[in-house]
Amino acid sequence: MFIIIAAAACAVLSCPSVAITKAKLAGVLVVIDPGHGGLDDGASGVVNGNRVVEDEHVYDTALRVRDMIVRDGGKVVLTIVDPRQSRPINNPAGKWLTDGNDEQINGRGCKPLKGGSSCLRSRLDVAKRAIKDHRGKVVWISIHFDVVGNDKVTGVRIITPEGRTPQVAEDIRYMFAKAKRCRAHGPIAFSGDKRYGLRRLYVLGSRNPIRDRILIELGNFKAPEDLWRIRDPKVRDGYAACIVNGLIKWSARS
Ligand SMILES: [Zn+2]
Repeated sequence: MFIIIAAAACAVLSCPSVAITKAKLAGVLVVIDPGHGGLDDGASGVVNGNRVVEDEHVYDTALRVRDMIVRDGGKVVLTIVDPRQSRPINNPAGKWLTDGNDEQINGRGCKPLKGGSSCLRSRLDVAKRAIKDHRGKVVWISIHFDVVGNDKVTGVRIITPEGRTPQVAEDIRYMFAKAKRCRAHGPIAFSGDKRYGLRRLYVLGSRNPIRDRILIELGNFKAPEDLWRIRDPKVRDGYAACIVNGLIKWSARS
């Protein structure tokens, strides 16, 4: 009865049309694989005599990506979780995130979490469980900050499965290359480089159950310029926004 009355009133008063906007990432499942964790620190650098590690910074960035995806209506599963850190940390300028070994595989498997190939399969198992009942689009994103190279190599690299470039990789690359906020994070390159060894074989290889899978190297711990970037929470937020804007562009495709 109310609807009929409201409709009749609107016909008389000419109410403004109410736009029903769909969440930008509705129906999208993103499996985020933070590059390292637990006993595996990943790469490290030295700032004022202190060791600064990769895993804490890529995990923090992963949480920022997660929160932005969820805000836009998407679903996220992390392959690695830290029960002691559920939110991103805005460390003070000039400081960094301190190393902890609490990260573990999300769900069962591989305790403690170690580097090398031993825990990579457990990460893929997280993805297998996650996609089981999902009916929409799915993408796998590994996040790292230890691009292969010397201290002159800086900027973002997007690594794709050998011989195939998923559209989602193109759309995220577009954001890093074109969007003003993203361009500030250094040069962008695109590569299916074979030198990524273990990661390509396991994380980007055919054992991964998700067809659209990419690995993003947000920078290089060996390069002083990048080591400065990753320590800044605003930059980590920027990285996350660039990734998520790329996902939104990809999601809008039919
Ligand atoms: Zn790494």
